[in-house]
Amino acid sequence: MAFDSLSDRLQGALKKVTGKGKLNEKDIENMMREVRLSLLEADVNYKVVKQFTNEVKEKALGEKVLKSLSPGQQVVKIVHEELKQLMGEDAHGVAFKGHGTTVIMLVGLQGAGKTTHAGKLANYMRKKHNKKPLMVAADIYRPAAIDQLETVGKQLNVPVFSMGTDVSPVEIAKKALQQATENKNDLVIIDTAGRLHIDEALMDELQQVKEIAKPDEILLTVDAMTGQDAVTVADSFHKQLNVTGAILTKLDGDTRGGAALSIRKVTGVPIKFMGLGEQLDKIEVFHPERMASRILG
Ligand code: GDP
Repeated sequence: MAFDSLSDRLQGALKKVTGKGKLNEKDIENMMREVRLSLLEADVNYKVVKQFTNEVKEKALGEKVLKSLSPGQQVVKIVHEELKQLMGEDAHGVAFKGHGTTVIMLVGLQGAGKTTHAGKLANYMRKKHNKKPLMVAADIYRPAAIDQLETVGKQLNVPVFSMGTDVSPVEIAKKALQQATENKNDLVIIDTAGRLHIDEALMDELQQVKEIAKPDEILLTVDAMTGQDAVTVADSFHKQLNVTGAILTKLDGDTRGGAALSIRKVTGVPIKFMGLGEQLDKIEVFHPERMASRILG
């Protein structure tokens, strides 16, 4: 499971202070050194680590904490609170339109999990929010991508709008929205093309689809297993498209957790959902509070 090693190390570092009745500066310094190392080892962005450890240290060294009856527990509380803040504090839902069709555009690199998460989101929104989704195949460069979305649609019994590979994604998005209105689909999920690397042509195309589709949400799908690369990718997509949130995928794998702990702070993009497996029901709303508790045990 994700974060196992980070979790073990952080818990180990904190145990050293929880057992003590009294704490001095040296104890805090020693603990912070281990916290810093465990975060760096989990591939958390170094600037984030620095800021995090400075903040925890400053709070932990406060008079009130050191002189309290259970200073160790206070320190654990501080670390917990800061971890939660780091990942965004509150959970973010999707901004549904009060009336009419809500449009979600999924963007991300190839292989990040866009198509799978188009299906997961459709399934989730149908079950949790009673939505009537339409999925749109706007990746015209890989015929296999269209087939894959159609397969997902069949599995879930969710309609898929596609026009093959000869029509531009902008045109596909336009027609898809018309069809959604006609068929009273109140949720449209657009699966866009990804590339192995970010390039200008991809971004231009995504910009154009964005202009036409006027999405309520642009969700960036990022593979948590790629660590700091995920953060870099998120940063460039956000700069170009002003995304509204991220879906962190493959958190079921043995990712060290760096992406989850850095994306929000580095890019400002909130993590809205997490993917926890290949099956189409493996999606959850991302709750920073629960994630912090999971990491600290
Ligand atoms: P796309 O190219 O961005 O559309 O990515 P796909 O949706 O095709 O996903 C790429 C691969 O990652 C597929 O084999 C998926 O089954 C797998 N995948 C997607 N999401 C998850 C996840 O949350 N956990 C795991 N373990 N695998 C995932």
